[in-house]
Amino acid sequence: MSVVLHEQLVPVFDEVIRRNPGEAEFHQAVSEVLETLGPVISKHPEYADSEVIRRLCEPERQIIFRVPWVDDKGRIQLNRGFRVEFNSALGPYKGGLRFHPSVYLGIVKFLGFEQIFKNSLTGMPIGGGKGGSDFNPKGRSNAEIMRFCQSFMTELYRHIGEYTDVPAGDIGVGGREIGYLFGQYKRITNRYESGVLTGKGLTWGGSQVRTEATGYGAVFFVDEILKASGQDFVGKRVSVSGSGNVAIYAIEKVQELGGLVVACSDSAGYIVDEQGIDLHLVKDIKEVRRGRISEYVSERKSASYVDGGSIWDVPAEIALPCATQNELDEDGAATLIRNGVRIVAEGANMPTTPAASRAFSQAGVAFAPGKAVNAGGVATSALEMQQNASRDNWTFEHTEERLATIMRGIHDRCLETAEDFGSPGDYVVGANIAGFTRVADAMLALGII
Ligand code: NAP
Repeated sequence: MSVVLHEQLVPVFDEVIRRNPGEAEFHQAVSEVLETLGPVISKHPEYADSEVIRRLCEPERQIIFRVPWVDDKGRIQLNRGFRVEFNSALGPYKGGLRFHPSVYLGIVKFLGFEQIFKNSLTGMPIGGGKGGSDFNPKGRSNAEIMRFCQSFMTELYRHIGEYTDVPAGDIGVGGREIGYLFGQYKRITNRYESGVLTGKGLTWGGSQVRTEATGYGAVFFVDEILKASGQDFVGKRVSVSGSGNVAIYAIEKVQELGGLVVACSDSAGYIVDEQGIDLHLVKDIKEVRRGRISEYVSERKSASYVDGGSIWDVPAEIALPCATQNELDEDGAATLIRNGVRIVAEGANMPTTPAASRAFSQAGVAFAPGKAVNAGGVATSALEMQQNASRDNWTFEHTEERLATIMRGIHDRCLETAEDFGSPGDYVVGANIAGFTRVADAMLALGII
């Protein structure tokens, strides 16, 4: 990995590599942040003197545990569970749980590290953490999912709490899983502690707009980018990778704002529909039938399906990677640029490889990083915590307005910070430095802990 760092950050990064061997995604996430912090160190040597960056790169606590469970055939299955409580300078650890076979410590640490800066950027009182398991929910029955979630929570419950650590969903963990997890937490602790998990159902402590928040928030952010140059979504061609929670609600909001979403995908392939994606059909396939995106073409004559391949081959003015890490590489970036892409905004966490993001910046494409773009999810989780703490329920309209205001604030903070540190218009620099300084100042105030 070729990384250009301020001289005082070189030993910090070397230490991260040495102490966390084999954790490529974590190394990548750390290097992407450290690369932009040089101007902060030059302006504020106190951050280097107090080793605040070095301390930030070391999680406060890392928990790894066994998750045994019994499948429908009576066989014993075994998975590994993780919770990395990365930084609590700003509030209780907050971040989702991911259930996917690719999950290992390096993925959880990359996500937890990103979460620190994202949560800080929201301006809300939440620290950073992340967790999950290498459990693969695909093809599992409801009963198996429930037994797995119950076993996972039987260990996790002792580490979390509304003032300690508040998990939520991520890949493979949606409303159904949060329900089973919350049920088991309640049963073990004998406490109806609504604020211990977010992403809950609306009838048992959940917040309006939480389901939609990450996708909607991402589109609000892009809308701010467009507005900054006097434009809007009307008539713009958009492609959105993935067809999970983030992708579906990003598509919904783009369509509401007048954009034309022509493509989306899942891990097997992508669909193109020049008449615009029929979201009702995508929701039915993904949220109700839990099927494959390829099923779309049998019900829409205007659509075609490409097995495998790259969704970034589809020409679009706005590209929203909303599936998973490193899904948009240098080749994908080159094709998008050749086809005239103007804005790339990360709905997913770290979906763009470092080489691809460099290509966008060299080509003058507005490139907005996930820690800013997808922060609407965790921000609305913090709104859910607020409602739980006050035993209140806000309306959809009020909550959506709060989300839009938060996203506007994040957008403006990124631009102002980028300008202050000599990189006008650079959303990556703005997001990293604005996220960093709020956490770093809190860490300085709290002493060497
Ligand atoms: P999800 O509902 O599980 O959906 C994930 C989508 O990505 C699915 O369509 C999945 O397809 C696809 N996908 C997964 N791995 C892929 C791969 N290797 N190649 C291509 N497509 C792949 O998850 P989600 O909640 O939408 O999360 C998506 C991303 O957003 C993740 O990076 C997550 O960390 C980030 N994020 C989520 C939230 C949130 O509130 N949910 C908040 C902030 C950030 P298959 O169904 O075929 O696997």
